[in-house]
Amino acid sequence: MFIKSKFPLECRMVRNPKTMIGYLRKNFWLFFGWGFVFHCLLFIVSRTGFELFPPVQMRMIANFLESQHDNFWASAATVVAIILAATVVFRIADIFQHRIWQRVRPRSRTAVTLDLINYLHCQSMGFINSKMLGKMSQQVNNIGMTAGLVMQKAFAEIAASLVVLVIGLALILQLHWGIGAIIGGNILILLVWFRINFHRIVATNRKLAETVSQIHGATTDTLGGSMNVRAFSGRKKELGILGKIMSRYDSRFQAHLLADRVFWAPLEFLEEFIFAALVLLCILYFRNGIMSVGDVVFVVGAYASINANIWNFIWKWTEMFEAGTEIYQNYSEINARITIKDEFNAPALTVSHGNIVFDKVNFRYDKKTDWVLKNFSLAARGGEHIGIVGVSGSGKSTIIRLLMRLYDINGGKISIDGQNIAKVSLDSLRKNIAFIPQDTALFNRTIFENLRYTMEHVSRRDVQRAAKFAGAHDFIMQQPDGYNTIVGDRGAKMSGGQRQRIAIARAFLQNAPILLVDEATSSLDSETEEIVQKSLAKISRDRTTLIIAHRLSTLKRVDKIIVLSGGKIVETGTHTELLKKKRGLYAKMWRNQNSTNSEFLPEEQE
Ligand code: ADP
Repeated sequence: MFIKSKFPLECRMVRNPKTMIGYLRKNFWLFFGWGFVFHCLLFIVSRTGFELFPPVQMRMIANFLESQHDNFWASAATVVAIILAATVVFRIADIFQHRIWQRVRPRSRTAVTLDLINYLHCQSMGFINSKMLGKMSQQVNNIGMTAGLVMQKAFAEIAASLVVLVIGLALILQLHWGIGAIIGGNILILLVWFRINFHRIVATNRKLAETVSQIHGATTDTLGGSMNVRAFSGRKKELGILGKIMSRYDSRFQAHLLADRVFWAPLEFLEEFIFAALVLLCILYFRNGIMSVGDVVFVVGAYASINANIWNFIWKWTEMFEAGTEIYQNYSEINARITIKDEFNAPALTVSHGNIVFDKVNFRYDKKTDWVLKNFSLAARGGEHIGIVGVSGSGKSTIIRLLMRLYDINGGKISIDGQNIAKVSLDSLRKNIAFIPQDTALFNRTIFENLRYTMEHVSRRDVQRAAKFAGAHDFIMQQPDGYNTIVGDRGAKMSGGQRQRIAIARAFLQNAPILLVDEATSSLDSETEEIVQKSLAKISRDRTTLIIAHRLSTLKRVDKIIVLSGGKIVETGTHTELLKKKRGLYAKMWRNQNSTNSEFLPEEQE
């Protein structure tokens, strides 16, 4: 398959060059290949032919008609044959360059997009969290769509214009140096004008591209916050924010158009004057017998072609530069060194018991922020169930993220069955860990596809078995299309409890020896919670399990509870042991949660 055979699916191998140009150069054969090379060559041949052959052919016809021939029909046949052969060659080249480009373009788009998505999936969560999702997805799509076009402009369109200019000028110079000098001078003036003013068009366009990018980011942000807009009646405010960006776009667009006109208008006038001078010169030379009718026809035709091509050159160069600058910018924004990746030849993690050890771990999300974990140690024996509690922000989820190596630690070591998780391959680490998040975000695909996400090969029957196990089968069957129901954006059509049961079924199918659970809090009603708890109890049997618990009542049966405060373990013990420490944090949290709960008193007396 295309993806498997061509892409370095191991994250270790994803090392992107710093700039867009480096990136395209490095991946040229993967993204474009020989097809692109043939397309460019054929494009140059056909464009040069179509632009320069008409004046040549007119000159041939005029010269033929003007001169004497021993064998008129034989000469006529030769002229017609040459014209026919040349135009057929150019036509065939044109048909093929078109056909090849139609094949190369979508393929290059696929290749670039997949490569970038693969790279982003290899990036650290820290990097992803620091980006705006909508903007990033627009940037990826833009690069995928535009990279091929930019390359095509550079190596086919612009290259062809240059070839036409050089050959056209050489032909005219060979015919008459004076006329050649005028046309050469014309080309020079245009190029110098272009060189001087180019930065203005580019600058206004860069500003325009920036605003386009901001519009994408802002629309995604406002639509993503739909719930907030409704809850806080924020429509007016949102339209105000968006309106400000849109009016900035409007003024930048006008500035860009103005710069464009100021650039082109003088060139348009210059063209008229040069053409008049050329015609005057041709008439003079013809009258003096220096040029034939054929020569004059050729010069006028060739000038038109050369002029069209230099305009085309400027135009395409600007387009290429503008599109190129945009994707250059897009690329630099999404490209960064991948910090979390496999070491070279990293072995796979092999889990025999499922012992987990956090050994004096130090961690902070950013150099500028406080330590989240300082000297943090924790050991879980294989099959042990550990509850993690603590107030919000105490570092509970961080522990789980670090065990999945979504972030690298700053000091200490985390190991599973004696193997440092930073030294084993990421894929093997994550395959051995099943994670049930608090708020499961599903893919906007069918329930079936979401369920068997980690295990592509499992049968429909196994998927249903897992769903029954997780208490999800009944509500799935009540959906309009059963297992084939599409769950909506991030699973919006399902309730929190339903999403969590799907996550449990998915984890059951993954059948990993280590289970991490971030328990749902308020999203579950008591009946659903009971179902979820039962499923969790079943699925965690014989698996090393870390459960972040918000409802402490769910921790009565775990082997050990750690209580976190400010990233440190302040208490450890079983539910009963911790309740005995009446002044302890756990007992206090328990009292807070159970102040209306009659269970409190007997429990504390245990
Ligand atoms: P808990 O799960 O106990 O509520 P977390 O582990 O999510 O706490 O967070 C611990 C601390 O780390 C908090 O102060 C939080 O603000 C900070 N934090 C969490 N996630 C990030 C992140 N992605 N970037 C920066 N800081 C974060």
